[in-house]
Amino acid sequence: MLNLKILFLDIYKNEGFRINKDVNGGFGTGNNYAGGFFTKLLAKYQKESIFWPPLYLASTMGVVDSFGHKCKYTTNLKDANYDFDIFILSSSIVACETEIKAIQYLKTFDVPILVIGPFASTCPTKYIENGANVLVGESDTALLTNPEILNKLKTKGGLIYPSNKPGSIEKLPLPSWGEIFKHKKCVMGFLGSGYSLPIYASRGCPYSCFNYCTYPLQQGRNLRNESIKRLVNQIEFYINTLKVKSFLFRDPVFTINRKRVIDICKEIIRRKLKIVWGAELHLKDIDNELASIMSKAGLRIVFVGIESINPESIKRTKRQNAPIDKQLSSIKILEKNGISVKAMFIFGFPGDNLNNALKTINYALKLPITYLQFSVFTPYPGTPIFSEYKNKLTAKNYEQYTQWDLVFNHENMTNYDIKFLLDKSYKSFYSSFFRLSKIFYRIVKIEIRKKFGLL
Ligand code: SF4
Repeated sequence: MLNLKILFLDIYKNEGFRINKDVNGGFGTGNNYAGGFFTKLLAKYQKESIFWPPLYLASTMGVVDSFGHKCKYTTNLKDANYDFDIFILSSSIVACETEIKAIQYLKTFDVPILVIGPFASTCPTKYIENGANVLVGESDTALLTNPEILNKLKTKGGLIYPSNKPGSIEKLPLPSWGEIFKHKKCVMGFLGSGYSLPIYASRGCPYSCFNYCTYPLQQGRNLRNESIKRLVNQIEFYINTLKVKSFLFRDPVFTINRKRVIDICKEIIRRKLKIVWGAELHLKDIDNELASIMSKAGLRIVFVGIESINPESIKRTKRQNAPIDKQLSSIKILEKNGISVKAMFIFGFPGDNLNNALKTINYALKLPITYLQFSVFTPYPGTPIFSEYKNKLTAKNYEQYTQWDLVFNHENMTNYDIKFLLDKSYKSFYSSFFRLSKIFYRIVKIEIRKKFGLL
């Protein structure tokens, strides 16, 4: 069937904090920091200044659009009507019950509903019980090789298992950001004003911390790369068509292949692109040469997971952190090159206790970083570590899995301890005049680079 009219729905729960369905391997998070005045203010600021839909939805829309179907994107359920032939819905753990209510409403139109994304793919039962079809696996590469899936959707719902494994990402059409921007623009306040886009140079992560991490659940543990030429063409295309000047690389570990990173940066520099960008990377990969070329190419913020300084927690989660002295030297190199470091830590890891958590806060406060994030250890369904926790869960529904709420009975800590630690860590870090001035100075420099290509 050609020329189907398809509505892509990206539905969010209305909360006082930001919900993002793209992060956390596509399971999503909700910045429900804590009950204190300061953390509430921070959560509200982030809600206002950051929004982007899940990349898997934009990319799937690009694939469906390339088949000649007419696609529309919305975050508003009321845009659904009898004109559409199919509804395609993004899924997440953090808005799961809201998505289920949306499906119940969409059923009244009596057309097939397809739910996509890593969470529904891992936990399809609730979606199917409510009458949706769930595509198991990576929706964009699966649909590209099996376009007939769209013609086989059932109005009563069911599971769809495409026969292929995650395919090459080089053959994918571009994500439909132009269509999405007609409804809602993507913004990332930490990369300055104007429009921003998430993008990826690779998918997949081979590291051993897949034990508790959701990224490899959908992307797999094999690295799949985008060609450098196509990647930078994409960046140039969005600069010229959508006036986007900032990009966030959503690769699980951007620096996993040093030579490729250098080649990507060289190509951005060669084309004189006045962009700023961010990426998640590992501190063990950083040296002066790499930081310098990434900075010249526009890298202005990096996200680095340190998680905990408690050796027992690191061991039990099968994480491989850089040694403490390497963490410090890499952070200094990055910050010296004008790249803001956001260090990310987790409270409530296996073996964690109040004393260790306070030590981790003290360690974090001494680091020469620009931003800090503390979240809460969450055993996600589908990850190997989940089997250790499934009988200890206290969460009544999936939407409590915000990554800022304790969803299980911790061996040493209570929910009260966790909220106390969150409030203390954010307040101690962000209430410093010196740190706020540094953030302000960095944002001003980002604006200058975007405007003049300098700094
Ligand atoms: S390095 Fe570990 S935590 Fe990071 S994406 Fe890979 S598996 Fe997940």
